[in-house]
Amino acid sequence: MIYRKDHIPRNTPHKRRPGYAMAATTLTIHNTGNESSNAAGERSWLTNPFNVRQASYHIVVDEREAVECLPLNESAWHSGDGSGSRSGNRTSIGIEICESGNYAQTLENAVTLVAGMLKERGWGVDRLRRHYDWSGKICPRLMYDGGKWTGWAQFKALVNLKLNEEERDMRVDKASTVINGNRLGDDSVLIEGRVYVPLAAVGKALGASVNWNNVTKTVTLTTKGAK
Ligand SMILES: [Zn+2]
Repeated sequence: MIYRKDHIPRNTPHKRRPGYAMAATTLTIHNTGNESSNAAGERSWLTNPFNVRQASYHIVVDEREAVECLPLNESAWHSGDGSGSRSGNRTSIGIEICESGNYAQTLENAVTLVAGMLKERGWGVDRLRRHYDWSGKICPRLMYDGGKWTGWAQFKALVNLKLNEEERDMRVDKASTVINGNRLGDDSVLIEGRVYVPLAAVGKALGASVNWNNVTKTVTLTTKGAK
């Protein structure tokens, strides 16, 4: 998936980019409500002279790309609960999921995008909001399922899975190694229950000679007295 920035100008009509500084604390998910428009189309709509609404959003994602329409540290008008300092408009990044094209692929892209954004911020899925949570609007409407919101539960579960997957892949903790009472340097690490230590340091601590054969990629440790 491509991620590109194409910010609307500060002087965009109807104050769609009000320029209020925002330190977001949540991500709000929407559907575009438009079955024929893709991310590029939704971005152009924000600066289309025929558009008279004071509505805007930070990111719009489709089957191919995500387009950032406003800087993520500025407010947009996407959650319809006014402009008070605790409103969604002032505290949340608005993400529009397109309804056009291959929706399964779009949803997959949205999961990847959102999981990445949560991870970047050290957040969990508890930071996710529906447009509905702010204003009661039935949005993201394709997750509504007649009020059961099964699509929403599923979306959050998929994002959570993605987050955990990445966490598992990346999980590296610091560890310490002590040999005969001597602590080695700080470069021991713990990966999935196993400690990895630079072998040269272990050899040295044991008084062994260490040889590395770069052709066969073999390290040989030989302690004194060994044949
Ligand atoms: Zn919405």
